[in-house]
Amino acid sequence: MTVGQGDTGSTGRQPYEYVIIGGGIHGTCLANYLLADGGYSHDQVRIVEPRDELLASFERKARQCGMETLRSTFVQHIDTEPFSLESFAEGAGREAELVATDDYPSRPTLDLFLDHARSVVDRADIDDCHRQTRAVGIDESGDSLHVETPETRLGAGRVILALGLGAEPTRPKWATGVSEDAPVTHVWNDAFDPSAAAEFDGETYVIGGGITAGQLACTLSERTSVTLLSRHQLETALSEADPYWLNWRHLERELHALPPGSQARHDRIRTARNDATIPPYVERRLDEARDCGPLDVRIGEIVCAHAIENGLLLRFADGTTDSNAQVILATGLDPVPEHPLVRTAAESLSLQRGTNGFPVLDDRTLAWQRSDGGTSPVYVSGALAEPSVGPFARNVIGARRVAERLLDPPDHAGSGRAIPRSSGTS
Ligand SMILES: Cc1cc2nc3c(=O)[nH]c(=O)nc-3n(C[C@H](O)[C@H](O)[C@H](O)COP(=O)(O)OP(=O)(O)OC[C@H]3O[C@@H](n4cnc5c(N)ncnc54)[C@H](O)[C@@H]3O)c2cc1C
Repeated sequence: MTVGQGDTGSTGRQPYEYVIIGGGIHGTCLANYLLADGGYSHDQVRIVEPRDELLASFERKARQCGMETLRSTFVQHIDTEPFSLESFAEGAGREAELVATDDYPSRPTLDLFLDHARSVVDRADIDDCHRQTRAVGIDESGDSLHVETPETRLGAGRVILALGLGAEPTRPKWATGVSEDAPVTHVWNDAFDPSAAAEFDGETYVIGGGITAGQLACTLSERTSVTLLSRHQLETALSEADPYWLNWRHLERELHALPPGSQARHDRIRTARNDATIPPYVERRLDEARDCGPLDVRIGEIVCAHAIENGLLLRFADGTTDSNAQVILATGLDPVPEHPLVRTAAESLSLQRGTNGFPVLDDRTLAWQRSDGGTSPVYVSGALAEPSVGPFARNVIGARRVAERLLDPPDHAGSGRAIPRSSGTS
């Protein structure tokens, strides 16, 4: 099928200027930037997102782990103006939902953050750009890309991959052999319901040592007896990385100076990120729950699990066992470079992949490099952009950093509009 026969932009046979794959925090934020600052019309931008609402993926995860406030500050949101969320809170008399934090700017409650984000979506009519379907491939003919979905092909001048943190929940080896009806689940399974989990008549083990595990353990411990099982001592950090990493100059010096696609870049980011840490306010929540009794924190690992009549029989690495247990994994998602669309797009468009399968990007524009050294009209945002956007790439603020490079890459400073496609392709 040609572009003209598939789903195209407003100008009849012309492709959309941008097709964004993923309508989460990043995809929605980028659409807002393209409409508000890029001068694009709603007919020129499509967001391909299988969920029925934009932002639903983030909200579901946040609610499933019992998150009460954002870890990031009130200037980190999906709108274009830094103080937009603060003004929204003031206008709605909700200043109390900007939670004061020691030695750190205030953080919004989850409800305030989401209500503000929805107000941005409504104000800019971003829902008009939403096409509810899943992208299954990207290919190219002539001057256009084609985003393939089960129903149609969307013609696009440029595509932005905003696929999130990873496609599949990570399950430890011991959990893969347990029978399907056994009480082992993952906090990021769509079907996971924390209220139903709290009904279990036995001990609940939450597996993980990061913020998700910490928040989930606290939430469940309000209703049932919980053990938080971490492989390592719990470590605290307020933010995911040093705020220096928000600055392009710092990124250019510390990251872009290293070879694109190299292990050295990957190592630099891993060292800078405070992965598997909990912020002090979650540590306090954990301490309170521990003092009250229903929460235990244990350092260790499960080595095997068997389904028995009243739950699971668990064996731990130190040789001890427990029975009548259920397990909820808070062990993260498989790395986003393993997302099937990343693989198929790289193959069909001959795109370069570096260490651990991450795309090799042009640091200036964030365009994915072709294997022959040219630049493609495929751009990435979120965790996938880490090798160029750095330790905060996956965070809310990472989307703003990507928008800056899309709309105003360094060589085109002040252009106020994305570079024409002809100068972004090989
Ligand atoms: C519980 C939780 C709390 C967090 N708290 C913070 C915080 O306080 N501050 C902060 O800065 N960051 C935070 N983060 C990190 C980050 O900001 C969020 O993960 C955010 O959702 C990332 O945005 P995203 O758009 O990359 O991913 P998502 O919001 O998950 O969106 C990705 C979207 O891609 C879609 N998608 C996937 N495959 C396809 C396909 N083939 N076709 C079409 N669409 C597809 C998915 O359906 C999904 O909607 C948090 C993350 C989690 C999980």
